[in-house]
Amino acid sequence: MTELVLPPAKLFIGGEWVEAKGGTFASENPATEETLCEVGAASAADADDAVVSAQAALAGDWGKMSPRERGKLLWRIADALEARTEEFAQVETADNGKPIFESKYVDVPAAIDALRYFAGWADKIHGDTFAVQGPFSMAYTLREPMGVVAAITPWNFPIIQAMWKIAPALACGNAVVLKPASNTPLTALKFAELAFEAGLPAGALNVVPGRGSEVGQRLVEHPDIAKISFTGSTEVGRGLMKDAADTVKRVTLELGGKSPNIVFADADLDAAVKGAYNGIFYGKGEVCAAGSRLFVEKSAHDELLEKLVERTSRLEPGDPQHPKTRLGALVSKSQRESVLGYVDVGRKEGAEVALGGKPRDVDGKGYFMEPTILTGVDNQMRVAQEEIFGPVLVTIPFEDPDEVVTLANNSIFGLAAGVWTRDIGKAHAVAAKIKAGTVWINQYNWYDSGAPFGGYKQSGFGRELGSAALDSYTETKTVWVGK
Ligand code: NAD
Repeated sequence: MTELVLPPAKLFIGGEWVEAKGGTFASENPATEETLCEVGAASAADADDAVVSAQAALAGDWGKMSPRERGKLLWRIADALEARTEEFAQVETADNGKPIFESKYVDVPAAIDALRYFAGWADKIHGDTFAVQGPFSMAYTLREPMGVVAAITPWNFPIIQAMWKIAPALACGNAVVLKPASNTPLTALKFAELAFEAGLPAGALNVVPGRGSEVGQRLVEHPDIAKISFTGSTEVGRGLMKDAADTVKRVTLELGGKSPNIVFADADLDAAVKGAYNGIFYGKGEVCAAGSRLFVEKSAHDELLEKLVERTSRLEPGDPQHPKTRLGALVSKSQRESVLGYVDVGRKEGAEVALGGKPRDVDGKGYFMEPTILTGVDNQMRVAQEEIFGPVLVTIPFEDPDEVVTLANNSIFGLAAGVWTRDIGKAHAVAAKIKAGTVWINQYNWYDSGAPFGGYKQSGFGRELGSAALDSYTETKTVWVGK
């Protein structure tokens, strides 16, 4: 690995690095427990400064840029990021603990892809004309940018989550103030500088790391912010929605999940084992859409479990910067404590630990843990109802399609689901009945910039990606034209 290229301990506001009024905080590498660097801690006053700079960008060069030029600029930014894929991937891995294999081949490429996808939309966002009655010749609609958008992101996919918001918001002509999660602010800061160097006008993108309860809260309350695009926990999302009501802000919420992954006995079991494994252990299970509840038809349960345990027993935590590592460190000490706490909760509720369940280290350091499978689980147990957000799978047997649909839908969440069967009719029938924003049939955990992603129920509302995302970053104005 080459030396990490880390950002300065400052905020990126108005196209430059500025001192944070809230001092600094340390960013820790969860695999080594060492401080990576100090990070500027934004205060509420810094959030205000970022909003002023975003407004100035909208009133200036950024607001005047034509949609086609915006598209070309997003392409240039994507090219600049692509040229530095390795550098960004290494920093993402050091900050989050995820394997470099994921950062380099999934996270950074997905961010680049989102930029290019929405670059293509920039000059294709348009309104309609309408035949109207009365003393008018017609009415037409304009799709206008909302103004200043605040993007608030979590720590599990830092650069992806940031880009799923930045790319469509900028393509639609908004200015952005991004507050990344305190655990993982580094790639967002680096990206803001990269975008500026690639030609993004000053103030169009500002990055202000800091405490959610201070800088995040200020953005939610700020009267000059038009929209909050939030990805994070259901708990924080609930409070944010209430607070945003005071200024009637537009809000989209991408929240937690406890997604059912359903395997019927007539499925290709080897493919289902692989899908169940990737569904929960990819990204250390710190994945909002993780297939964390595995429902298996009774007649296939033992065979599938045996194969899954065998496969998972070969998954060893390792140095995240090593190219062969497939299970990295959990993002923080407290996250590992929380996940291991759930393993204990499961035991007390009567679940059996079929595999794993213990903390691990690599060379005596790091917040690693064993991939874990709990069996003998009932859907009402806490480990089947609450989001664990770590490499912990619960398996639940079922008898027939109606029963499993009821069980799968028995959750406050509705983010994603998987269905494994060779019976295509059954697959579509079950997909239709599942209350979730995404259903994968005979695959799991696939995403594309062109396909919308978001939740039902308490997993949130609004959609990221695809043309659906454009609705989240534009207002529709109807103009009536007199004769
Ligand atoms: P979190 O809710 O603790 O924090 C998310 C962000 O909100 C952070 O930047 C945080 O600083 C900020 N925040 C905290 N309090 C705030 C407040 N009062 N006002 C404004 N902002 C505030 O979530 P996390 O622990 O960073 O991330 C994990 C969660 O994110 C999980 O629940 C996961 O399911 C969810 N998630 C959802 C999706 C999705 O697309 N649905 C994707 C990734 C993660």
